[in-house]
Amino acid sequence: MKTANFTKELGHRLQEKRNALNFPPKVMFELTYRCNLDCRHCYIVKDPSKRELSSAQVKSLLGQIADAGCLHVIFTGGEPLVRKDLFSLIAYARRRGLFVHLFTNATLLDERDAVILKGLGLISLEISLYSAKRERFDFITRRRGSFDRLMNALMVLKKSEVRFVLNSLIMNLTLDEIGDLKHLADSFGADIWWNQFLLPKRDGSRENLRFRLEPEEIMKAITSIDAVSTLDAAGSAGNGTCSADIEVSRNATETDSVFRNKFFSCGVGIKNSLVISPYGELLPCANLPSIGISAIKEGIRKGWKRLIEYTSSLRPSADYKCDGCELRSFCLSCPALAGLECGNINSCPQFHREFAELKRQKYETDRKVKDLRGHHAYGKL
Ligand code: SF4
Ligand code: SF4
Repeated sequence: MKTANFTKELGHRLQEKRNALNFPPKVMFELTYRCNLDCRHCYIVKDPSKRELSSAQVKSLLGQIADAGCLHVIFTGGEPLVRKDLFSLIAYARRRGLFVHLFTNATLLDERDAVILKGLGLISLEISLYSAKRERFDFITRRRGSFDRLMNALMVLKKSEVRFVLNSLIMNLTLDEIGDLKHLADSFGADIWWNQFLLPKRDGSRENLRFRLEPEEIMKAITSIDAVSTLDAAGSAGNGTCSADIEVSRNATETDSVFRNKFFSCGVGIKNSLVISPYGELLPCANLPSIGISAIKEGIRKGWKRLIEYTSSLRPSADYKCDGCELRSFCLSCPALAGLECGNINSCPQFHREFAELKRQKYETDRKVKDLRGHHAYGKL
């Protein structure tokens, strides 16, 4: 058998075996909601009444997700580097055979850390980049010197040959910076992923949305990104809001009740998405509120089963409009985002409706231009 065929066959078999385990291949582990920065747009909300998981508890949960068949763990926050035990948690996850991804603002990283990270063998390192301009960056993070600390971290990572990707959230403060951001990423030999969708705060406050791009501005940003980027916008972080692995959701069986009712068409609550909060709560998606399932009290397997049952039991209410909506194929909203935007998972957020309408108009204009070109080409035959 040729090597390529063998690898493909092996990949299929591993995927089949993994699917049979009925557990998400990827778990997002929010290690803390604390952060050394205080970004103006941040949507994270700490709950001072709850206690963060200890090192031993995190390791116990990592062991359980590895035993359940999980392949990838994404460590995120808040800022994971504020946890002094982060490197030991990464090392433990690696020992348990998990592929580790780290999302960080990197402003706490120094040369020694870069060397350690190199040795830990991360699968991916994703670093937030809020602006290419020092003063603006520090204004956004409310921390003087944070831009310089980030630049230093990128330098030491490059020196230690740790590969990383920059993740840039475009806001109204930085809409004019797309070329500069790309240039900065190029100067470090890094790819840049774009995100234009700022989320409301998780407690429902919309105060941070004063920095969000309006739908028309998002369309402009996409045009500018296309102009500077060799990366297709669809190949980037996309709407930047969803941890669900769409590829796996396509493998969801038609008999899965959640998928059949298409309420969660991303596949959340089937097999593909699980989030662990810093307090040990299990969530189907980072954008859905906790329903109080504790991984510490119930264990991962049992908690996950309860979570699936809960998500599967959710049904659209009578005022749910998405099923017959002509904009559905252009719309990025989902029950979780509707809940965040409007406080009701059945609602139609105005922001998403306006953006979907603009996307449809663009699609129709592009199609007309394409038809016209085809017509001209035919005329030349
Ligand atoms: S770096 Fe991230 S978690 Fe920290 S304040 Fe900024 S947006 Fe929030
Ligand atoms: S525009 Fe509104 S009703 Fe239509 S698919 Fe989007 S959220 Fe649903």
